[in-house]
Amino acid sequence: MRRRPLIAANWKMHGSIPAVQAYLETLIGRVHEDGPEVVVCPPFTILPAALLVTTGSAVAVGGQNCHWEAKGAYTGEIAAEMLVELGATWVIVGHSERRQYFAETDATAAARARAAQGAGLNAIYCLGESLEQRENGETFAVLERQSAVIAGLDPRRLAVAYEPIWAIGTGRTATPEQAQEVHAFLRGRLVGLLGAAAAATLRILYGGSVKPDNAITILAQPDVDGALVGGASLDVEAFSSIIAAAPRFAAGA
Ligand code: PEP
Repeated sequence: MRRRPLIAANWKMHGSIPAVQAYLETLIGRVHEDGPEVVVCPPFTILPAALLVTTGSAVAVGGQNCHWEAKGAYTGEIAAEMLVELGATWVIVGHSERRQYFAETDATAAARARAAQGAGLNAIYCLGESLEQRENGETFAVLERQSAVIAGLDPRRLAVAYEPIWAIGTGRTATPEQAQEVHAFLRGRLVGLLGAAAAATLRILYGGSVKPDNAITILAQPDVDGALVGGASLDVEAFSSIIAAAPRFAAGA
């Protein structure tokens, strides 16, 4: 079963409105319908400027978070419907930085993903173990726990991102074998949570210090269906190289 690779950029709290147009115009010129699906997730304030450039192109735009309620007294939060109103089509939920600094849990991340899907967005649900958990041999137990909430999500509007915390922003990448081992485990887990058909089509992305020089071997793994890219996505040349490293996809193959 061929899954179309998905390469997503997580700009975190980086980027600017003046710089986004040139970045996206360059990127659009490098993204082709027969290549990977490409999503850029800049900070909320940059979304309108980004969407002005990408609308009608093959580059999609997403948010980095959304709230589980449609409206209300939630100072500092953004509703999924608000992202849809702008024209965004994706949102990242449950990123480890949200879990670490903003008390995100599996339950709140899943609630955000459900709200996003209900509003018509595609959600990227992030999970991954810490270095301590890996060294204690707890990786699969942690992933089993973090993935349980996926049972309540719509697989048609979902991607899962395996992001080992010890590899995020550290320059330390999981080896292709380590990534494949976890992705194969998650694929098996998805069979139990969502059924065999959904598990076969759902894309599992790897995230954690993906760079142009390590992307080819990671993306070549059979259960690695793309990447969630932080630091390297800030540079359009580096991000384009990662996109180019994804295996070719022919619709219907
Ligand atoms: C991320 O934050 O999702 C990420 C993978 O970051 P980096 O690529 O910088 O490790």
